[in-house]
Amino acid sequence: MGIEEKLPGGILLTSIEKLANWSRKSSMWPATFGLACCAIEMMTTGGPRYDWARFGMERFSATPRQADLMIVAGRVSQKMAPVVRQIYDQMPDPKWVISMGVCASSGGMFNNYAIVQGVDHIIPVDMYLPGCPPRPEMLLDAVLKVHHKVMNEPLNSKRAKQLAEQGKELYVE
Ligand code: SF4
Repeated sequence: MGIEEKLPGGILLTSIEKLANWSRKSSMWPATFGLACCAIEMMTTGGPRYDWARFGMERFSATPRQADLMIVAGRVSQKMAPVVRQIYDQMPDPKWVISMGVCASSGGMFNNYAIVQGVDHIIPVDMYLPGCPPRPEMLLDAVLKVHHKVMNEPLNSKRAKQLAEQGKELYVE
């Protein structure tokens, strides 16, 4: 009997999947941009005190084409919405999104015509982070939860599928 017959079905694929996911979560580079006050806490999280370099995230990517993670740090104005969407579209799959703070997640206290009432109107979100602003420990916790999610994802491109399913279109009034 050959070794392939002795092994349980799918064992090779599972191992490759785990290796790929481990690589992805171990070098997740955030796109460089901030939208409002939450970005100050995001920058602090990247500094030596909180040191997310421990998780392979020492590099903010200056180009979206080399970024895996978008942290929407702050309220999204209607004028910025097409820009956020464009940055998201320029990031290669697979990619993940954290909505940082109450403003990014729901508009927060800015319940008015100028602010998008939740960034999930324009891009899919993997993790919503409450708070005004969320502390660096909270952002680190959200990042680790995204890492956990990445470790349990199949290899195929989930983003393209998600977008197709949700029928997300650019939110322009
Ligand atoms: Fe600023 Fe608070 Fe809104 Fe963050 S949640 S952008 S800290 S007002």
